[in-house]
Amino acid sequence: MKFISTRGGEKVTGAEAIVKGLSENGGLYVPEKFPAFTQADLDAMLGMSYPERAAYVLSAYLDEYDKEGLKDACEKAYAKFEGSDPCPLVKIKDGVYILELFHGPTCAFKDMALTVLPYLLRTGCDICGIKEEILVLVATSGDTGKAALEGFKDAKGIKVMVFYPDDGVSSMQKLQMCTQEGSNVNVVAVKGNFDDCQTAVKEIFNSAECAAKLKERSIRLSSANSINFGRLAPQIAYYFSAYCDLVTSEQIQMGEGVDFCVPTGNFGNILAAYYAKLMGLPVRRLHCASNMNNVLTDFLAKGEYNVNREFYKTTSPSMDILVSSNLERLLFEISGRNAALTAERMAKLKSDGVYAITEEERAKIAEVFDGGFADEDEVVEAVYDVFCDTGYTMDTHTGCAMKVANDWAYKNKKDTTPMVIVSTANPYKFPQDVLYCVTGNDVRDSFKGIKRLHAATAMAVPKSLSGLKDKPIRFKVSVNKDKMFDEVLAFVK
Ligand SMILES: *Cc1c(COP(=O)(O)O)cnc(C)c1O
Repeated sequence: MKFISTRGGEKVTGAEAIVKGLSENGGLYVPEKFPAFTQADLDAMLGMSYPERAAYVLSAYLDEYDKEGLKDACEKAYAKFEGSDPCPLVKIKDGVYILELFHGPTCAFKDMALTVLPYLLRTGCDICGIKEEILVLVATSGDTGKAALEGFKDAKGIKVMVFYPDDGVSSMQKLQMCTQEGSNVNVVAVKGNFDDCQTAVKEIFNSAECAAKLKERSIRLSSANSINFGRLAPQIAYYFSAYCDLVTSEQIQMGEGVDFCVPTGNFGNILAAYYAKLMGLPVRRLHCASNMNNVLTDFLAKGEYNVNREFYKTTSPSMDILVSSNLERLLFEISGRNAALTAERMAKLKSDGVYAITEEERAKIAEVFDGGFADEDEVVEAVYDVFCDTGYTMDTHTGCAMKVANDWAYKNKKDTTPMVIVSTANPYKFPQDVLYCVTGNDVRDSFKGIKRLHAATAMAVPKSLSGLKDKPIRFKVSVNKDKMFDEVLAFVK
């Protein structure tokens, strides 16, 4: 299987796509053709464990990777998750399910991919014959950073460096990153928001000057952000797996359509669901849930993407994003894989902060996607109502999706299609906010929040979060965005 750039001009192998992260012209790598899964594939997956299902999906895209090697890597990755099932499906009421993707080492869905990515990258380098040291550069809105640090810590021949917006992550997320252990890691705060971080990291990737300076030091850049296909591929797997679980638990018949509602930031998670659909998974509709930074809601409704708007800091910080990078991959598909047009739109986004698609394209997207958002009060209501009605506790990101799913159900009362709400974080990752949702109580300190949330919900507290209290802070540097590359050079020396 070969991969091409959404902006044209390149054709690479899967290993190359993963090692490079971003194509040379700034485009994103997409499969030249989607592998088609047949009924027989789905039937075969029913009897598999989660790691086997994940390896099955990965093999379909990454055919130059050894099948057994992939399986072994998935077994090892998902053995790091708590509990017997890495991504359990919980029924909260008839026809409504929560797909819990937060049982990994860092308590957010990023672990689903970032526990596997180090293997994909390391092996990709071996396949490509790359001898240089790899530097993984990450811009994070909170959860990717920690998951990448944890995934890559002490990996041989790889260094990992994370930039996060100084005031744009929760206190728990910050603590998770700044206490990170490992000899090959670095964490730096940036004065600005996530978009500033992401844009600056992309500029480092695209700069010939930066590349030359790194080459002198025998270093190659790679990316662990969701623009990397190695992030997307493992995410496709859990949509297949959730579907299989619905069939094996007799909630649906094989072949029946299901909807997914996904709390969305960079459009990576929901794009993986779309890729699963393109591969043949019986997905009916995809609901794209945003918080007050509802640029995607507007885009899906109007066909215009416009980042010239106020940026809000919300209680779902991992979705405080205006430039959703992976949308480029959807645009590419919807335009009939028109690379020139995709490149033109991305250039317009960069220069003017706005582009429009045609009405025909908008309608085509609307055949599968619809969008909605929750304001801050609506998140509280959604989390509170589920807790009261069912006893289930969800985090604030998932709360956004819950609100959007509720809106859909209200407007489509006769619709009986099962709805799977994708849950992206453990509630204890945002303890004060979730405590406020379920009890109305405000506490200033995260650990007091954890204690009280536990008292209110009796939900088990993950050790990786409660244990942070006693860990020393290792990383304290905060820089302006024009100094980020200096930090990179200081780190790799
Ligand atoms: C990253 C993240 C999201 C957004 O996912 P995207 O793939 O960027 O759309 C939502 N919720 C949480 C908790 C996250 O960490």
